[in-house]
Amino acid sequence: MLTIGILDLQGDVSEHFALTSRALNKIDNNSTVITVKNEHEASFCDGIIISGGESTVIGKLLEKTGIKKVIISENIPVFGTCAGMVLLASETDHDQPLLNLIDMKVKRNAFGRQKESFEEEIEVLEEKFTGIFIRAPVVVQVGEEVAVLSILNDKIIAVKQGMHMATSFHPELTENTRLHEYFIKEVLKCVE
Ligand code: GLN
Repeated sequence: MLTIGILDLQGDVSEHFALTSRALNKIDNNSTVITVKNEHEASFCDGIIISGGESTVIGKLLEKTGIKKVIISENIPVFGTCAGMVLLASETDHDQPLLNLIDMKVKRNAFGRQKESFEEEIEVLEEKFTGIFIRAPVVVQVGEEVAVLSILNDKIIAVKQGMHMATSFHPELTENTRLHEYFIKEVLKCVE
């Protein structure tokens, strides 16, 4: 029985909530999804998902709310999409607060501005997936512990390190629960 939290400080939270509920139903009916706005709610979570949005804003709020402290001290697995990927990084091309949970350097807005947003068929975990990229970051450097899960035109767009994972694109804006299921299975490994 798991509790998966969707960080609810800014960004496309409801889409993650809906897709995570569907993914959880496929795996374990007794599990729940909650939104996380403060450190108390974060402390209930076995895993936390950080949505797209604006990573500098979310990073500051993670510190102000005390949620960052809970994630780090309780060793909670995190899945970050887009801005969430930026926040998981150890380094970016901006000066901003980070979680520093994946040993990688990320370049923000690497495909250009909002109007350069695009959708592309990509391959993740050996299956086709619709990648939706909105002011998306890319990973420009990874440490030895990092597994690369997907590459698009020589650019790293999905990674995993231990129990944490990150994508440049937005699986929550598709109907495909596969990456959410994958994360939930990683979280299950941590609680078993
Ligand atoms: N460019 C944004 C950032 O770096 C992320 C955009 C998004 O999450 N869609 O914070």
